[in-house]
Amino acid sequence: MQTSVSAGLFEKAKTYFPGGVNSPVRAFRSVGGSPLFIEKGKGSHIWDVDGNEYIDYCCSWGPLILGHAHEGVLSAVSKTMQNGTSFGAPTRLENQLAELILSNNSYIEKIRFVSSGTEAVMSAIRLARGYTGRTKILKFEGCYHGHVDSLLVKAGSGLVTFGNTSSSGVPESFVNETITVPLNNRAAVEEAFQQFKNEIACVIIEPVPANNGLLLQGKAFLNFLREQCTAHGTLLIFDEVISGFRLSFSGAAGLYEIKPDICTYGKIIGGGFPVGAYGASREIMSCISPEGNVYQAGTLSGNPVAMSAGTAQLTECLRPGFYTELEKKTSYLINGIMSANPFPLFKIFSLGSIFWLAFTEKEAISCAEDIDPGSMGYFKTLYHQLLQEGVYLGPSGYEVGFVSSEHTYDDLDKTIAGFVKSLSLLTKS
Ligand SMILES: *Cc1c(COP(=O)(O)O)cnc(C)c1O
Repeated sequence: MQTSVSAGLFEKAKTYFPGGVNSPVRAFRSVGGSPLFIEKGKGSHIWDVDGNEYIDYCCSWGPLILGHAHEGVLSAVSKTMQNGTSFGAPTRLENQLAELILSNNSYIEKIRFVSSGTEAVMSAIRLARGYTGRTKILKFEGCYHGHVDSLLVKAGSGLVTFGNTSSSGVPESFVNETITVPLNNRAAVEEAFQQFKNEIACVIIEPVPANNGLLLQGKAFLNFLREQCTAHGTLLIFDEVISGFRLSFSGAAGLYEIKPDICTYGKIIGGGFPVGAYGASREIMSCISPEGNVYQAGTLSGNPVAMSAGTAQLTECLRPGFYTELEKKTSYLINGIMSANPFPLFKIFSLGSIFWLAFTEKEAISCAEDIDPGSMGYFKTLYHQLLQEGVYLGPSGYEVGFVSSEHTYDDLDKTIAGFVKSLSLLTKS
C-alpha cells in the first residue's frame, strides 16, 4: 500500500499544527505510523490522497449515519447556501430542525443549538448549576464529555475522589468542583451523595459510554441514577453526543425509557456540520438567557447551512425501519466476524450500530478499570492489517466504530473477510 502523499502532507502539517493535527486522536499516535489524509468520501467508502480506497467505520467519529456525501444532505446544503451562509439573525431553518427534533423526542421540551458537543456539555453544566444554585458536579471515570475544563478530570485513587486533571491548564480549583466515581458502581454514587449532601448540581453520564471502549451500563444502574438524582434535588444529564439519534431517534433516553433532566447532543445532529445542542423541560430551559439568567450565546449558533444539513439527515433517520435496518447490518457484520474468529481473546462489544473491538477474556466490560491497557498492542497490529484490507477504523483501540445506512451487505462481507484474514495473521505473529 502506497501512502507517500499522506506522509508528505503530514510532514507539512506538523509545521503548521501542534502534532500536525487539529484534534489529537487524528495523529495516529496510539496506533503508530502516519495518519491518512482523506481526499473524498461517498456512501460508506473513503479514498485517501494516495488513491487507496477504504470501507469507513469511523464515519467522522459518528456524525455520518448516512455515510459520506449523502444526496439528500448535499442538496439541502447547496440549496441553503445559495441564499447566504450566515446572518446572525433567526431563520426558519432553526425552527424546522427544532420542530423535527422536539416533535419526535418526548424527553425534552425546548432546545438550544450551539456549535459543538463540547459547547453543549459546557452549557448544560452551567444550566444545571444555575438552576440548582449548587456548584459540584459528579462524573464517571471512563466517560468523555468534550474538552470542558471541569470535565477534563480523571479519577484519583479512592472510590469517590476529586481526581486529577487529565490536562494541564485546568486549575486545581475547577477540579475541586468535580467529583469522580467509577461507572456501574452504586456504592460510590451513594457515598458521593452522602459526602456532598445538597452540594451536587448534576450527575453527568454518557448513558452508553462510548469514548473509552464501549462500557455498557445496565438499565438498572441508569434507573438508580435517576432515582438518586431525584431524591437529592440533583439534575441528571445524559450526554447523548454519540448516542443521540444513533441508538434511536431519541437516543439512549428513548432506548432505555429513562428521562434525564438535561440532554446534550452533537455529532449526528448536524449532518456532518459543526452543531451541538442541549435540551430540557420548558421550566429548566427558561433559565437560559435571554429568558433567564444563565448566559449562553454563539455567533454561528443555529447556522442555516448546518441546520439544513441536520434537518436533511434527521429526516432520513425518521424513516420507518431506519434503526432496525442499521442494527440488522451491524449484527450481520459482528456475527460474520465472530463466527470465523481465529483469535480467542478477540471480542466485539456492541449496542445498536455502535461496536467496539476488544481483546479480553472478560465477558463484559462496564467500567474503565476493567480495560487492560496491554491489550492495545493487539489493536495496533490489527489496525494496520485492516488498512491493508481496505477497512478504515478510528485510529485508537479505545474508540468505537459505527455502521451507517450506506454500508452495503457487499461492504460487510468484504469487511468480515478482511477481519478474519487480519485476525489470523495476528494469531501467527
Ligand atoms: C464527541 C463527544 C463530545 C464532544 O463533542 P465535540 O463536538 O467533539 O466537541 C462530548 N460528549 C460525548 C459523549 C462525545 O462523544
